[in-house]
Amino acid sequence: MFDVNRIREDFPILKEQVHGKPLVYLDNGATTQRPARVVERMSEYYLRYNANVHRGVHYLSNLCTDANERARERARDFIRAASVEEVIFTSGATGGINLVAFSFGEAFVREGDEILVTGMEHHSNIVPWQMLCERKGATLKVLPVLDNGELDMEALSHLLTGRTQLVAVAHVSNVLGTINPVRRVIDAAHAAGACVLVDGAQAVQHLPVDMQELDCDFYVFSAHKMYGPTGVGVLYGRRELLLQMPPWQGGGEMIKEVRFEKTTYNDLPFKFEAGTPDFIGIIGLGEAIDYLSSIGMENVAAHEEALTRHARERLSAIPGLRFHGSSPHASSVISFTLDGVHPLDAATLLDQLGIAIRAGQMCAAPLMQRCGVTAMIRASLAMYNTFQEIDALHDGLLRVVAMLREKR
Ligand code: PMP
Repeated sequence: MFDVNRIREDFPILKEQVHGKPLVYLDNGATTQRPARVVERMSEYYLRYNANVHRGVHYLSNLCTDANERARERARDFIRAASVEEVIFTSGATGGINLVAFSFGEAFVREGDEILVTGMEHHSNIVPWQMLCERKGATLKVLPVLDNGELDMEALSHLLTGRTQLVAVAHVSNVLGTINPVRRVIDAAHAAGACVLVDGAQAVQHLPVDMQELDCDFYVFSAHKMYGPTGVGVLYGRRELLLQMPPWQGGGEMIKEVRFEKTTYNDLPFKFEAGTPDFIGIIGLGEAIDYLSSIGMENVAAHEEALTRHARERLSAIPGLRFHGSSPHASSVISFTLDGVHPLDAATLLDQLGIAIRAGQMCAAPLMQRCGVTAMIRASLAMYNTFQEIDALHDGLLRVVAMLREKR
């Protein structure tokens, strides 16, 4: 049985106070907190077992190498990839997208080709594609977002052309919360001969994902948004494509044999992992996956769904509050604006009450423009949040509205 109070015990930070008030942490879309066991596992490796991976023949090096590869197997299982060859460790979602933009771009994108992104992407899933288009003389196209925060799926068939090489789409929007119909995007793209990169940065911590069922070509996510450490992430890539793609960075570990005349590259996934990886971070990610799996993604999803329903219901009663994104297919990311209140002012006042939320552009400036605002307030919920915390946000927002509207 899912017991949120039991889960909260695993996260020491949730007992902290901020400005003398109990911390209400609702900025999980930016980064989640870590359970003690993730930090303890990492500190155990730092303090007792540390040695570089894949290099030594000595005891500690082998120990760390094995732990690193066990984490890869856990990540493979977590996303149901067919093989560990398809699981590449990166520095995060951004690192994974840049790797694909460079390497896939080198192999497959030519002048006059097209890359299709959507109007709700995070800057990380826009700028690397713009840079690729600039390098190659390709064109960036944009799949529009409808007023309810869903993708304009009717426009998709017109936007996909014989020149489209890749479609980049968020699984879950970091602003609107929309869970996109990525399977439909993937099928349409494949039918048009294009590959698909799915940005799962806001998805893997909320929903079960299955690479074989999804049939995407690339999928990226960050450990720090799923109860793991910062600086680590995963790129899933389809084996046949990865084999055809050149390495992104050169260095140790990604080579088989180095000669001044010619160097040969390592097998997958190591071909894409130049240099010493953050192996202790990777071990921490493995621990976070074990933790999530022990709770069960279905249980996480059910709790967060109930919490989100409660939050939307309560917040909708606040006068002048306008949600951005109203798709029924949405996760626990809730963005809104308050008439007559600047989001940054609201965030500053909520902070004084111990409530951490995000305010600003949420790294999605084009989407802000589409919604006709310069900034929003975002509450992003995680499995350890409670109904009482939602009520605290509601009460806090009422105080914010009363104070800030009075002043005008
Ligand atoms: N994509 C989405 C949808 C995100 O929400 C984020 C983080 N806010 C990223 C990509 C980038 O993740 P990171 O900074 O961990 O690389």
